[in-house]
Amino acid sequence: MSAIDDEMALARQAMVREIERSARQALGGREISPRVLEALGAVPRHAFVPPEHLTAAYRNRPLPIGHGQTISQPFIVALMTDVLDLEPGDRVLEVGTGSGYQTAVLARLAGAVYTIEISKPLAEGAERIFAELGLTNVHARVGDGHRGWPDAAPFDAILVAAAPPEIPDALVAQLKPGGRLVIPVGREAQQLVLIEKQSDGSTTLREVIPVCFVPLTRQEDGGSD
Ligand code: SAH
Repeated sequence: MSAIDDEMALARQAMVREIERSARQALGGREISPRVLEALGAVPRHAFVPPEHLTAAYRNRPLPIGHGQTISQPFIVALMTDVLDLEPGDRVLEVGTGSGYQTAVLARLAGAVYTIEISKPLAEGAERIFAELGLTNVHARVGDGHRGWPDAAPFDAILVAAAPPEIPDALVAQLKPGGRLVIPVGREAQQLVLIEKQSDGSTTLREVIPVCFVPLTRQEDGGSD
């Protein structure tokens, strides 16, 4: 390992400890599972941030990734991943690839990740990094995630990284019985919500924490720059 790799690995471990602290403060004693912390301790977040933000790659905050978008805060990535309770063979849909960092965390814990991004340049950037890191269980496409990915459905878990005003029906329809969907919902005031589909097809909803995400745009909004 080079000196820079060593430095990044140390910074990554410090970020994991910071996530544990944030979880204790924000979640009233609930902890992020060791498997999820291990994944965040292993995925090189610095590979997903623009070079000018390299020194901030392991701070527990969002960072700009261009095209008006941000790489999510590590604590939020950890929390969203944790509530999905992934098993090694799970098939996961992600809406809003962005930098691809969250995708890489999911890919470490699940069997296959299908990720959709509406911005072509962001999708292309993320795909380059997936190839560099040798992530063979990630399938990426450009498109509007409101529709989900019918050809690859049903999914054990779905993660949405941008906020719609209401939960898109197509995403709930593409969950397996027993499947979980985590999604920020709302316009100004948003809540991170966990939907679980029961074996009879009905759903339960739990509010996790107030959050602040970019809006989930629609193709006709001109969000496909
Ligand atoms: N988790 C990502 C950050 C995602 S930011 C990371 O860690 O880097 C939210 C992303 O959702 C942005 O890249 C935005 O372009 C994308 N997005 C917004 N609306 C979308 C839609 N309808 N379909 C797919 N992607 C969308």
